[in-house]
Amino acid sequence: MEEVLTNPKAGFYINRDVFGAQGDFITSPEVSQMFGDMIGVWVMCAWEQMGRPEKVNLVELGPGRGTLLADLLRGVSKFKNFTESVHIHMVECSPVLRKLQYQTLKCEGEDGEKQIVSTMTGSPISWHATMEEVPTGLPTIIVAHEFYDALPVHQFQRASHGWHEKMIDVDENSSFHFVLSPRPTPATLYLMKRCKWAETEEIAKLSQIEICPRAMDLTQTIAKRIGSDGGAALIIDYGVNGIVSDSLQAIRKHKFVNILDNPGSADLSAYVDFTAIRHSAEEISENVTVHGPITQSQFLGSLGINFRVEALLENCTDEQADSLRTGYWRLVGEGEAPFWEGPDEQTPIGMGTRYLAMAIVNKEIGVPVPFK
Ligand code: SAH
Repeated sequence: MEEVLTNPKAGFYINRDVFGAQGDFITSPEVSQMFGDMIGVWVMCAWEQMGRPEKVNLVELGPGRGTLLADLLRGVSKFKNFTESVHIHMVECSPVLRKLQYQTLKCEGEDGEKQIVSTMTGSPISWHATMEEVPTGLPTIIVAHEFYDALPVHQFQRASHGWHEKMIDVDENSSFHFVLSPRPTPATLYLMKRCKWAETEEIAKLSQIEICPRAMDLTQTIAKRIGSDGGAALIIDYGVNGIVSDSLQAIRKHKFVNILDNPGSADLSAYVDFTAIRHSAEEISENVTVHGPITQSQFLGSLGINFRVEALLENCTDEQADSLRTGYWRLVGEGEAPFWEGPDEQTPIGMGTRYLAMAIVNKEIGVPVPFK
């Protein structure tokens, strides 16, 4: 899964812009500017709750086209105390997307010469391949939207003698198929750890379990950082607050396709196991607390997206109003939009309850807005 998505030559994310109507899938920041606006409200609140530090790292993991951060910076640009304190760090593996992010954030300067800045707020901005590369020592606010779902999962299947990992083999005519490993694999250690965090009855019901060791490790990197340097992390993704059984999926041009078909040409993603994130964070650091998950609808609603949409609706064209209404539904609604009068196949589908939000914060902050 990692190779398919991030291989430097043929990885799905590496050579192209995969987002939007022309691409393979669409994400909340691409649906409406209100998403980045509201994440901006959350980041500002976190910074306030941190006691307005004079210097702060703002990290985005997997920033895609850079749209979320551009909307966020536009929204907070008036708050000079905040914008002057921020150093932005982008964690991105794709050179093509890095270029796009540079443009979206109206950057100036070149790598290796002068510090690159986003002219939207004058904030310095740096790119890194991994979270570990982001410099330590400053309080840090981290945003991960649809990043965890791209981390590689391992699937286990129950057989007569316990759990076996599903592996991929190649047959005589060079096509891929699934096989079961006869012996324990390295990921088995993570499976054992994950099962300890579940009730025996929860495991007993399942014939398949999906785990994400990289998500568990990344969470520990984040929790250690927030625990020692101070700050807060926000994770938003689709997933469940419990063990995931079998969710790995492939999407090409907005349609589900076979996972093993033409690797690198379709997005692979899996549900995020928020329970595993909670336990991973709590296990590694006594200085952090974990909040949520709550639904995206609760999260955006409590941050005041209703006021935002009303304010935007007051000053816009009819066309913009339509796009605000459908965008609003996509972000906070559940299922098909009841008000839709256009073609059936374009009915906006709500992501409000399928997507969940979780925060990992330094204990000193207390309960982060809006998880109270
Ligand atoms: N947050 C954006 C994009 C989500 S898609 C949005 O909501 O629109 C996933 C993003 O993470 C892409 O930018 C992809 O290139 C990046 N990415 C995926 N796997 C990665 C990895 N292992 N390391 C660094 N970046 C990764």
